[in-house]
Amino acid sequence: MLPSFFDSVVALIIKTSTDLPPDARAAMRVAMNEEPEGSRSRQALDIIGQNIDQAASGEGAICQDTGMATFEVKTPVGANQIWMKQEIRNAVAEATRRGKLRPNSVDSLTGENSGNNLGPGTPIIHFEQWEHDEVEVKLILKGGGCENMNAQYSLPSELPHLGRADRTLDGVRKCILHAVWQAQGKGCAPGAVGVCVGGDRTSGYVHAKEQLFRTLDDLNTDPRLADLEAEIMRTVNTLGVGTMGFGGRVSLIGCKIGALNRLPASFFVSVAYDCWAFRRLGVVLDATTGAIKQWLYRDPAVATIPMMDQAGFRRTGREVALTTPLDEATVRSLKVGDVVMVSGPAYTGRDAVHHHLSTHDAPVDLRGSVIYHCGPVVAKDGNGWRVTAAGPTTSIREEPYQGDIIRRFGVRAVIGKGGMGAKTLAALKDAGAVYLNAIGGAAQFYARCIDRVEGVSFMEFGTPEAMWHLQLRDFPAIVTMDAHGNSLHKDIEDTSAVQLESLVSSTI
Ligand code: SF4
Repeated sequence: MLPSFFDSVVALIIKTSTDLPPDARAAMRVAMNEEPEGSRSRQALDIIGQNIDQAASGEGAICQDTGMATFEVKTPVGANQIWMKQEIRNAVAEATRRGKLRPNSVDSLTGENSGNNLGPGTPIIHFEQWEHDEVEVKLILKGGGCENMNAQYSLPSELPHLGRADRTLDGVRKCILHAVWQAQGKGCAPGAVGVCVGGDRTSGYVHAKEQLFRTLDDLNTDPRLADLEAEIMRTVNTLGVGTMGFGGRVSLIGCKIGALNRLPASFFVSVAYDCWAFRRLGVVLDATTGAIKQWLYRDPAVATIPMMDQAGFRRTGREVALTTPLDEATVRSLKVGDVVMVSGPAYTGRDAVHHHLSTHDAPVDLRGSVIYHCGPVVAKDGNGWRVTAAGPTTSIREEPYQGDIIRRFGVRAVIGKGGMGAKTLAALKDAGAVYLNAIGGAAQFYARCIDRVEGVSFMEFGTPEAMWHLQLRDFPAIVTMDAHGNSLHKDIEDTSAVQLESLVSSTI
């Protein structure tokens, strides 16, 4: 057996989770340079840049959602794939134990978290044989927020704002534009898309995700698809979705398209949407020892250039300091676009907590409180706890519950990402509350805005789903839905829809 295989896979997982690859860094630098200083998108990108640096230097998870681990393994003929699969599973459990992966594997029927990222279907491991002597292991960590923004189209189809998409490359172009537009900030834009033209419904999604293993700056070997990729990148950023859907000049950092043969009756276009936290790396291993011979996508001999030249949130002087618990008058004075710095007690709550609170009392007094849509990575610290990664999760999942919870418990602010819908907006207005958009994926940055963990409720829901009682300090976020019926998300969706319509006749 390969004595170093386990250690090599652990090293791959840790590096992938904590250090954004050079091509993604370069794309994010371009995005930063595009957005004007002081704009909402630029402020968000500054936080993202600091977060990337903090994750790399402290070897912490770039985003608290360390995603679905997907391994693509190529082995020489005769290699023992059964043994390798078990070692990869062991390595995933070890990286989870070390806090580099969040426990993310949940029983779909009971909701129970396995605690070690192992379970039916997790992690995903694909093997392929090749005519080489080495073993190649590639890994992508793709989180739930962006996974939920994947889209599959069956052509011909009528697409909102784009009209009919035919079984042509122009029809494919419309599908990609539509997928990026509908993702808005929910998938933590600016993202990258892997696309598959053709295949069946299953192979199409697999092949689309495989495109994300290409480097963001490569050139498609098929000139027709290369032209389509270039056309998408030339036009998509006019949509104005911007970072986190705040509006801005960069909505996408990469578009990679592949094609599979299809049945004559089918024409699927599958889009795998990945977020800015584009965590993908690989290693080439010695086939007799399992030791790392070479890293893929990065050269360890080349020093990493930091994304930012300073630490800390760049204040403009216009930020509003909020101390919880909040009163109604303070909250009603806030308007969409205000940048706030929140300090004081806050409570995390995701899907399980919201579902529970919809039919039960709260374990703490939530009057004037802040609910943070967040599934943090939390480590035991003596008798207490320490948050090691704590970015926001996608809020729209709580739309069925949020309005009722705001009204019943007197919650004054909800922090999350991607915005919420009409029901929540109505509750914010009636009850006097606001929605605060934090920067998705900025898990290290926000972990440093949490002074301490005061306690925890509902540990039986698992670490990400428990209600953590946090003490925040200068936690920056942007008011994107206020108590006057305004929603930045709705505004950006509407203006980007107009832009989308203007791209109908653009050609490849
Ligand atoms: S950056 Fe956003 S979409 Fe990506 S994994 Fe993190 S929370 Fe999910």
